[in-house]
Amino acid sequence: MIVIFLGPPGAGKGTQCKLLVDRYGLKHLSSGDILRRERKEGTNLGKQAQSYMDSGQLVPDDLIVAMMMKEIQTAGNSGGFVLDGFPRTIGQALELDKALEEADKEVDVVLNLRVDDIKLEERIVGRRSCSRCGAAYHMIFNPPQNDNLCDRGCGPLMQRADDTAEVVRNRIKNYHELTSPLISYYSQTDNLHHIDGNVSIDEVTAELLNIMDGILQDT
Ligand code: AMP
Repeated sequence: MIVIFLGPPGAGKGTQCKLLVDRYGLKHLSSGDILRRERKEGTNLGKQAQSYMDSGQLVPDDLIVAMMMKEIQTAGNSGGFVLDGFPRTIGQALELDKALEEADKEVDVVLNLRVDDIKLEERIVGRRSCSRCGAAYHMIFNPPQNDNLCDRGCGPLMQRADDTAEVVRNRIKNYHELTSPLISYYSQTDNLHHIDGNVSIDEVTAELLNIMDGILQDT
């Protein structure tokens, strides 16, 4: 099964993708996570992507498409995968369609998580994670017991360089200009489903499972 998860930055795609992975045995292919890994490893791609990411711009299509095609090929023989953060432009979607057609595969479900802009900024700017164990916190919704320290006692919390208010505004603007046209692109197929992401994590999960179980029952 091939799932595409659309939605603006901070909508909660990553959280919900983890659930899809656990419940349906899909591989999680997050373009943002893969780029962060490349940066950590100091690869050429990581170095090329750095300035775009830190300023909230999209990394050029040719770099992203090459990176994701490699990941998709590797995941191709498993039980399926969920794409999180890719495609993010019409150009990327066209390349993905071409590659899937050549491999005689197709997208089964496109999930579009909708969240109001005002909520996105609040959700992203408050995000922190432990620099050692990776545990996730939010300064308002899930604060650590001691300011800026991990509750597990491992050390200080960090904020992603692109989670600051100014960069977040750029990311949201780019989402509207370059990524949201994908909603009408995928509405030409009959596998696009909208989910209200303004509600609690549990409510979003319930809606997501409802959609996925309905699809699996029909197949
Ligand atoms: P994310 O973790 O999905 O918010 O991605 C973090 C950053 O990685 C984005 O702000 C972009 O700079 C870059 N990025 C991730 N996925 C893509 C993509 N599909 N196309 C272009 N840039 C991307």
